[in-house]
Amino acid sequence: MSAILAETRRDEATAVVEAPRRERKRVVIIGGGFAGLAAAHALRYSDAELVLIDRRNHHIFQPLLYQVATAVLSPSEIAAPIRQLEATQRNVTVLLAEVTGIDIASHTIEASSPGVGVRKIGFDYLVIATGMRPSYFGHDEFARYAPALKNLNDAETIRAKILGAFERAATTEDEGERARQMTFVLVGAGPTGVELAASLAQMVKVTLRGNFRRIDPSKASIILLDAGKRVLPTFAESLSRKVAGHLDKLGVTVLPGVKVETVDEQGVIAGGNRIPSATVLWTAGVMASPIPKMLGSKTDRAGRALVDPFLKVVDAPGVFVVGDAASVMQDEHPVPGVAQAAIQEGRYVGRLIAKELKGQKVKRPFRYFDKGNMAVVGKNYAVLQRGWLHTSGFLTWLVWAFVHVLSLPQLQNRLRVQRQWLWSYFTGQRSSRLIPEPP
Ligand SMILES: Cc1cc2nc3c(=O)[nH]c(=O)nc-3n(C[C@H](O)[C@H](O)[C@H](O)COP(=O)(O)OP(=O)(O)OC[C@H]3O[C@@H](n4cnc5c(N)ncnc54)[C@H](O)[C@@H]3O)c2cc1C
Repeated sequence: MSAILAETRRDEATAVVEAPRRERKRVVIIGGGFAGLAAAHALRYSDAELVLIDRRNHHIFQPLLYQVATAVLSPSEIAAPIRQLEATQRNVTVLLAEVTGIDIASHTIEASSPGVGVRKIGFDYLVIATGMRPSYFGHDEFARYAPALKNLNDAETIRAKILGAFERAATTEDEGERARQMTFVLVGAGPTGVELAASLAQMVKVTLRGNFRRIDPSKASIILLDAGKRVLPTFAESLSRKVAGHLDKLGVTVLPGVKVETVDEQGVIAGGNRIPSATVLWTAGVMASPIPKMLGSKTDRAGRALVDPFLKVVDAPGVFVVGDAASVMQDEHPVPGVAQAAIQEGRYVGRLIAKELKGQKVKRPFRYFDKGNMAVVGKNYAVLQRGWLHTSGFLTWLVWAFVHVLSLPQLQNRLRVQRQWLWSYFTGQRSSRLIPEPP
């Protein structure tokens, strides 16, 4: 049995962790997302005991979540078990638990495992990589009617909502209700909103064609709203314009500069007008997980921990925050909350700790290397922005597909996704069109 499990079992009885008397230093990593896994990997040859804690047993490749929500892929194709790390990296112990408290003074965290209870675990180094969660900008009541897309449950909920709406539209005798069921409103025109709207547009035009005798799914109305002035605000204006034009060709109605005031079971009120809709999807803001706040140090407005140039938390020795949970500034600009930044930050901190464990000091602060930003807009069209290079169209889409397949965790996922994409590309069919039965 690994040392960590032996120790925590002892702790269950006493609920107190003994002062570290271990020969090896312990690094606790919270979060098995992009940043946490990169940190663990960078520490693979170090003489440290690693404990990687996540509240779910799988890592999710979030950039393809929208394809699960629109039935192109199934959940297991974009996820990988975090526990596999124990088989491949000898110095890691994986714990399925939710971290519920951090005590900087005593260097302990509190983690609650389903069916087991709360454990206290001591650490010498702590790496927080807990990512973001959806933000409804102070209107949490919208969440009930407008699911966000952050994990596999969300993706499956959205998929069921979309497919269910067509079934209800085909069943009802009420014209108004049919129109409401066939109206889809997406709130937030960032990459997730754009990718989801475009994929949905192709699903209604191609995949569902001929599937319903009583309704024509291609007549569905897909509306993409945003309070901002344009779609993809983090991309150059020229690319935004091209994407808006392409969405228009796909049949998506883009409404920039429109603020959502209310979301309820009938639809939304936006810009003073009611839009009846049975499917409202929230693709707008995000905020940090509550974990950085537990440190008691400074956070930004989105709840991300402010870290120094070495990604350390000021006044908390041995504590680092990486990935989406960290607010990192570079050349007076924030480092973006994207997978590449999370991977680079996790890897940097892993290497820094490995060096410190060898008694060496790291002098070079973290520096983000921007490999470029991409967004896909349905079949055959994507945009890429990398420094001065701005491209769009079919070749960019091929690059997007190649990069995403290669970045998926596990070889089996890469092979399965490739096969699904080829099938879907040539037939227009989507193999994951399931509405789960109610429990
Ligand atoms: C729908 C969607 C699409 C995206 N598309 C792109 C894209 O195309 N390109 C791109 O570069 N980026 C994209 N991103 C952003 C990218 O996914 C994030 O920047 C990246 O996942 C951040 O990595 P992370 O490790 O910081 O956090 P995450 O990957 O979110 O991982 C955080 C982990 O921490 C765990 N955790 C959280 N709280 C606790 C707790 N209390 N106890 C235990 N475990 C906890 C979670 O379960 C999770 O496994 C997208 C994000 C979303 C949601």
